[in-house]
Amino acid sequence: MRLDGKVALITGGGSGMGKVASEMFASEGANVVLTDVNDEAGGSTATAIGERAYYVHADVSKENDAEAMVAAALERFGRLDVLYNNAGIMPLDDGSVTDADGSIWDRVLAVNVKGVMFGCKFGIPAMLESGGGSIINVASFVAWLGAATSQTAYTASKGAVLAMTREIAVEYARKGIRANALCPGPIETPLLLALLSDEAKKQRRFVHIPMGRLGHAEELAKAALFLASDDSSYMTGSSLIVDGGITAAYVTPED
Ligand code: NAD
Repeated sequence: MRLDGKVALITGGGSGMGKVASEMFASEGANVVLTDVNDEAGGSTATAIGERAYYVHADVSKENDAEAMVAAALERFGRLDVLYNNAGIMPLDDGSVTDADGSIWDRVLAVNVKGVMFGCKFGIPAMLESGGGSIINVASFVAWLGAATSQTAYTASKGAVLAMTREIAVEYARKGIRANALCPGPIETPLLLALLSDEAKKQRRFVHIPMGRLGHAEELAKAALFLASDDSSYMTGSSLIVDGGITAAYVTPED
């Protein structure tokens, strides 16, 4: 098993990719602390996994909650080896910069950027105590490409995650901590499906995906598993793009 003996903390583990990763990491031998703001979703994910999982309510944008989730991991399982900063939001009212509402920016940056920072602030000391570990920060393919279907606060937040991840990786490289950004393409989760409920919006995006389909949460969880495990032991400061070919494409195939 690829995570035997390891303890992983996964934020936003109640839904989408975080949920599937919580299940997969536990099935690969990890003890998993999963956090969410949706207690019903987070709690039922942990219950379904069983004794290898422990649910903690934590809003990643709140410093005290982030401190408490790391403390809970140490108290429950005694160490921290993997920190998967997965929780993120994509409000539907985020749009063009010329229409920007400052309050949306505050909300998005608080969760998507400060949430990652708080996770690292408290997770890194715990990982150093444990002898090192792997940090996975979730960015997005939109950190690499501009879109005319703009969600500027979200895009800016994911660019910040990429830059922050590089700096953390370099700072802690000789202390046994690796940090990599995971950049999903469009993945079929509640977050994206809320946006694509409109057929025209869906088709506008589909044409740019060389593989011609959305990704599955399992396909991302497998990439996260690689970054979490020792299989990626010489990889730090990198971005793993899992996007069905979007960032490689100029012209996509016709059906
Ligand atoms: P999702 O909405 O299915 O799951 C996200 C989970 O995070 C939810 O359970 C939600 O309750 C939780 N959450 C929200 N705010 C939180 C907070 N402040 N504190 C703790 N938990 C919080 O979303 P998903 O699609 O699985 O997204 C996971 C990550 O992947 C996000 O960072 C998202 O931005 C990123 N991402 C998603 C896609 C996609 O197409 N789905 C693409 C690129 C990147």
